[in-house]
Amino acid sequence: MYDAIIIGGGVAGAASATLLARRGLRVLVTDRTPLPAPAVSTHFFGPTVLTALDELGLLDQVLATGAPPLRRWHLEVEDGYYGGPMLPRSAHPYNLCVRRETLSGILLDAAVRAGAEVRERCAVRTLLRDGDRVIGVAGAGWQEKSHVVIGADGRGSATARQAGAETTFDAGALRCTFHAYWRGVAPLPAASLELWHHDGSLVQLGPCDGGLWVVMLSAPVAGFAALRGTDRDGVSGYEHRLAAIPAMRTRLADAERMSPVFGSGTLRNFSRAPAGPGWRLAGDAYCHKDPLFGAGIADGFAAARVLADTVPGAVQGELPWAEAETRYADALDARVGARVRSGIEGLDLDRIRPEQRAWVRGVLAHPALALELVQQCSELFAALPPERRTFWQAVADSTADLLDLPAPARIDTPR
Ligand SMILES: Cc1cc2nc3c(=O)[nH]c(=O)nc-3n(C[C@H](O)[C@H](O)[C@H](O)COP(=O)(O)OP(=O)(O)OC[C@H]3O[C@@H](n4cnc5c(N)ncnc54)[C@H](O)[C@@H]3O)c2cc1C
Repeated sequence: MYDAIIIGGGVAGAASATLLARRGLRVLVTDRTPLPAPAVSTHFFGPTVLTALDELGLLDQVLATGAPPLRRWHLEVEDGYYGGPMLPRSAHPYNLCVRRETLSGILLDAAVRAGAEVRERCAVRTLLRDGDRVIGVAGAGWQEKSHVVIGADGRGSATARQAGAETTFDAGALRCTFHAYWRGVAPLPAASLELWHHDGSLVQLGPCDGGLWVVMLSAPVAGFAALRGTDRDGVSGYEHRLAAIPAMRTRLADAERMSPVFGSGTLRNFSRAPAGPGWRLAGDAYCHKDPLFGAGIADGFAAARVLADTVPGAVQGELPWAEAETRYADALDARVGARVRSGIEGLDLDRIRPEQRAWVRGVLAHPALALELVQQCSELFAALPPERRTFWQAVADSTADLLDLPAPARIDTPR
C-alpha cells in the first residue's frame, strides 16, 4: 500500500514525487515510457520555478547543465524594439530553457534519493475503486493500492477521463505552434528571452542546455495549414516563414536544425476539476494552455507544492480527506486556473489592429508612460470584475518588468 501513486513522470509528476517523498510519504511514480522522457515543449521557465528548484536544493545541478541564464528581455513588435534587464524582484531574476528530459531527470533522481519508487514502461490502464473512491491503479498484469492517485499524465489524461473529472473551462485551441532545436544560431550580445512579432506570427527563441537553441513559431490557429506548408511534418512552412523575417534569416544563416519540426494545431486551453475522492490531477492533466503562457512548468510545480501542503496531513490523519480535496481544488484554481482564464485574451496579440499599432509603438518607445497610465487608472480598474483586474495587473507587472522598475501599485488597492 502506497501513500501516493503518481501516474506520469513528467515535470508535474516528478516535482510532486520529490516533494511528497521528502515529506516522508511512500510514493510510487509510474510512467508508460522510459524515463526521463522528452516532452514536446520549448521549456522556458522563470523566477517561480528557479526559486522552487533552489528550495529543493537542485538549482546548482540545473545550472550545471549549461543552459545560460537569460537575464534580459528582447521584444520586437510592429517595428518597435524594447530590450532590458529582467526585474530583480527575486533571488533569481532570469529565465532558463532546460529540455524536459534534463529537468525531469534531475527531479526524478531527487525523488528516488528521497525514497520514491519509479517504474518505467509501466502504463496505468484503469483506476481501482471502492464505491466512489479511487483506491489504486492497475496495468497489464499488475495493480497497486494507495491513499491517493495523482494523475500527472498530461493533457490527454486517462486519469481525468476515468475519474470523471468535469471540464470547468474550455476556450479551445487559439494558436498553433511549430518549433525545433538548432545548433549554431547567431546569438544576441547578451543572452535574452526573445520574442519577435512579424506579419501575424510570433517567434520565440533562446539558448538551452546541450549547446542548442529552441526556435518556436506561433500564429493564430486558423493559419495552421498554411504555416505547415506542403509537407506533413511542417518543415517547409516553418523554415519558409522564419526565412521571411530578415533578422531570423541572419540569425539562422549558419545554423543547423538538429531535431524534427514539432507542430501542433490542437493545443487547447482548458481546465478540469482537479480533485475528487481518492484522486488529484496535476500539471497539464489539470490545466492545459497555450505555450505562449510559458507557464506549464511553473504550474506543474504549483500543483506539487499544493499536494505537499495537503496530502501528508490527510495521510497522517491530521486533515480530513474532504478538506484536503477542497483545499487542493481551491488553491489550484487560484494559482493556475484563474490566471489562465484571465490571460486568454492576451493570446490574441497577433491581431494588432491598425488603430492599436500606434499604442504598441508608443508602449515600446515610452514604456514608463504606459506603466504610469496603468497606475493612474488603478482606481478605475478596482471596479472591474476580479478576472479583468488580474489581467490588467499582469499588464502592469510586465511593463514594470520591461522597465526594471519597482512593481506597480496593486490594482485592487487603489492609491
Ligand atoms: C510546443 C510547446 C511549447 C511549450 N513551451 C513551454 C515553455 O516554454 N514553458 C513552459 O513552462 N511550458 C511550456 N509548454 C507546456 C509544458 O511543456 C507542459 O505544461 C508540461 O510539459 C506539462 O508537464 P506534465 O508533467 O503535466 O505532463 P507531460 O510532460 O505530458 O507528462 C505526462 C507523462 O505521463 C505519462 N503518461 C501518460 N499516460 C500514462 C499512463 N496511462 N500510464 C503511465 N504514464 C502515463 C507520459 O508518458 C508522460 O511522461 C509548452 C508546450 C508545448 C506543446
